[in-house]
Amino acid sequence: MHELRFRWRFVFSSAFHSTGNLTGIGVDKVLARDVRGNPIVPATTVKGVLRHWAEVVLRGWGEPVCAAPDPSDMCLPPSLCRVCQVFGNPRHPSPLRFTDGRPRPEERGGAIPHPRSHVALSRRRRSALEGRLFTVETLWAAGVEWEAEAVGRFPDPDRAIQAAALLALAALLTPALGSSRTRGLGWLMNRAVEIRLDDQVLSLKELEEAHWKRWQGGAHGRVAAPEAQEPAADRPPEG
Ligand SMILES: [Zn+2]
Repeated sequence: MHELRFRWRFVFSSAFHSTGNLTGIGVDKVLARDVRGNPIVPATTVKGVLRHWAEVVLRGWGEPVCAAPDPSDMCLPPSLCRVCQVFGNPRHPSPLRFTDGRPRPEERGGAIPHPRSHVALSRRRRSALEGRLFTVETLWAAGVEWEAEAVGRFPDPDRAIQAAALLALAALLTPALGSSRTRGLGWLMNRAVEIRLDDQVLSLKELEEAHWKRWQGGAHGRVAAPEAQEPAADRPPEG
């Protein structure tokens, strides 16, 4: 088995919000937090946004990709599109396990939660909805570097490198993370990836030569599903 470790580093240029499960006093939408109370970008959000941008890029290159997130419109194993091979779907587990995004250890003091008021808008009437002021807890994290990981084991190195190529493509193109992007939250100013296959660094140049150029040139990737080795515990991707 071959182990792929994909690390995504990103820096916000604005405040950020990803809604958590808990309720907060005086705040309508609180931030997602880990068990210690530190704000995070949940693994499902990391996986969901990377999947979304992987779909966007591949479709732009003319590759047929199924229509997540509706399970009935997604690939039926054993025939899987390139996105489902990497990110999985309700009928086929992803070979990768994604982690929550967190500020890098040396940056953890730099992200500060603060509440922010929003007015609910009627898209139809293009006006504010009466009495619909709500408060969102945002994280002021501009300039703070965050990181998230995806780790997986693959039966052959080619599949691992293909997965790395798709993850890197999506990670380098993702413009924003979390919710309320139209209100100016969650925009990224910097993204970088670090990829290791069996502890050897994979360069972006290798991925570009081996895969991006081929995909761009119309090499489509629908294949029979590989044997799932290590089912991921996370939920199906969300858009
Ligand atoms: Zn698919």
